[in-house]
Amino acid sequence: MSASELHGDHPALDLLNTVMTVDGAKVERWTSDGDVLAWLRTVADGADSLPARAPAGLLDAARALREQLRGLVAARKDGAPVDVAALNALLARAPRRLVVMHAEDGALRLVNAYEGAATDALLAPVVEAAAHLLAEEKQDLVKRCENPECTLWFLDKSKSHQRRWCSMGLCGNRHKVASFRKRKAAA
Ligand SMILES: [Zn+2]
Repeated sequence: MSASELHGDHPALDLLNTVMTVDGAKVERWTSDGDVLAWLRTVADGADSLPARAPAGLLDAARALREQLRGLVAARKDGAPVDVAALNALLARAPRRLVVMHAEDGALRLVNAYEGAATDALLAPVVEAAAHLLAEEKQDLVKRCENPECTLWFLDKSKSHQRRWCSMGLCGNRHKVASFRKRKAAA
């Protein structure tokens, strides 16, 4: 699974999109701790700093985080009050510090390190991404797919800001076919 398959164009929205609805049925992308770690590799900048094996409990922690962040993103989008205390509590679970490391080529590298429980530390970059999305992105560019049966979110990075669908393949073409049929039936 690559990040582009999740259509969100933002790590926090890709997180929400790891559960989706296809033909009315819920499709869960994560069924193990390893699935979550593999997903983190696709969205993380410092993917090489991720552990080889997922810590126990990562799946449950990631799913709980996903649904908590879904509530915050939806509230923000819908103009409802955002539970900032809940978001700050998530951020406080794994405080970040900067660490200088020796890279293999002898150069020095500046990397983020996170305190806290192993699962919280792994998920911390996603929490930070969500905080950025909520506090710093233009909310009219944070969009739900216009297909009412689709639950996917995306950040509209298109130049014209006219993006309407999670993807043409999943929902855009379906809409085109449906409106073509409607026009034909009306003619
Ligand atoms: Zn869609």
